[in-house]
Amino acid sequence: MESTLKRTWSEIDLDALIHNYRTLKARIGKNVKFLGVVKADAYGHGSVMVAKTLEEEGADYLAVSSIDEAMELRLNDIKMPILILGHTPKEQVDRLIEYNITQAVTCKAKAVEYSEEATRLNKTLKIHIKIDTGMSRLGYLCDGEFFDTGAQGIADAMNMPGLYTEGAFTHFAVADEEGEEALEYTRHQFKLFTDVCSKVEELTGKRFEIKHCANTGAVARFPETYLDMVRPGLLLYGYGEYARQLHLKPVMTLKTVVSTVKVYPEGTAISYGGIYKTDKRERIGVLPYGYADGFFRSLSNKCSLMTREGLAPQRGKICMDMCMIDLTDKPGVDVGSEIEIFGKHNPIEELSDIAGTIPYELTCAVSKRVPRTYIKDGQVISRELLLRMR
Ligand SMILES: *Cc1c(COP(=O)(O)O)cnc(C)c1O
Repeated sequence: MESTLKRTWSEIDLDALIHNYRTLKARIGKNVKFLGVVKADAYGHGSVMVAKTLEEEGADYLAVSSIDEAMELRLNDIKMPILILGHTPKEQVDRLIEYNITQAVTCKAKAVEYSEEATRLNKTLKIHIKIDTGMSRLGYLCDGEFFDTGAQGIADAMNMPGLYTEGAFTHFAVADEEGEEALEYTRHQFKLFTDVCSKVEELTGKRFEIKHCANTGAVARFPETYLDMVRPGLLLYGYGEYARQLHLKPVMTLKTVVSTVKVYPEGTAISYGGIYKTDKRERIGVLPYGYADGFFRSLSNKCSLMTREGLAPQRGKICMDMCMIDLTDKPGVDVGSEIEIFGKHNPIEELSDIAGTIPYELTCAVSKRVPRTYIKDGQVISRELLLRMR
């Protein structure tokens, strides 16, 4: 079912996604595999369409955060290898195997559980071992005094029945931070990762087929970390400083329309709390875009949205379903005019900077009542309504 309203919608430019993929693929070279991170519904871009596009382009792997996200892809005919980065309950091992989903193994307890479960089923679960080299989140702790016990723990997991270890990976904490200290930290993480992998390979006599660690920051800045596969998310979607440097294109453009225009006398308080008062006769437009659509209420009275006559300041508190913008000096912008919230003409980084956050959070925040329009070869190829209409 299609949305009947032209309210607020996102345009997902698959041509931009393809451009970004090909640009990155050319950068990493043909001997390095490409894993596209499509967790969180592909950072709010729609994981099924993004995965389909990457599959057609010949990408090698996908990553998601949970089995539900992996199942969404499998049930929509995505055949590529999928790695789950987070935990999966052991009760789901059967499904992981049935749907050929690769599971990250992050500690001994998980390795034991998965091994027992796979053995009980008389099947084999494909895993990638996660190594904690300094992110201090998931993974076998291997730094400093934990090097030998960490490597031994990983070797033990690799030798457990019912598990087939295809790969090993680690995650960089500061690959996108400037300064010598961050550089040093990333270099240390990378060296530790390769050292642990070598040690484990020596202990087991087995080789990891796929070693991977390069996220967006590392793909942009540290070619020496590409190893067998890279694992970018943000870069693929074309946001941030590195995307700009690499001439990548933003994939999402979030749009809305002016639903009402009113002219108020000087001194009129606009919206809840009256934090904005008109300082002259002002022409104010109402947009059907509020915090329930993914706008940040903390941006109230602080940001500007793009009209065809330039940036219009947002005025007053952002409401659940609406917000107001100042159209006083934009006579050509009227009821029905399109407004770009962020995208090709109003870079998302402007908005995320003002909000004190990162572009990831803004694209992930676009809510399910915002339908998506997918564009390929410059044409709208499909629309996706995320509400439960069936
Ligand atoms: C999210 C994530 C990525 C991708 O990060 P970007 O900064 O978007 O490139 C890579 N690896 C892991 C483990 C992640 O959780």
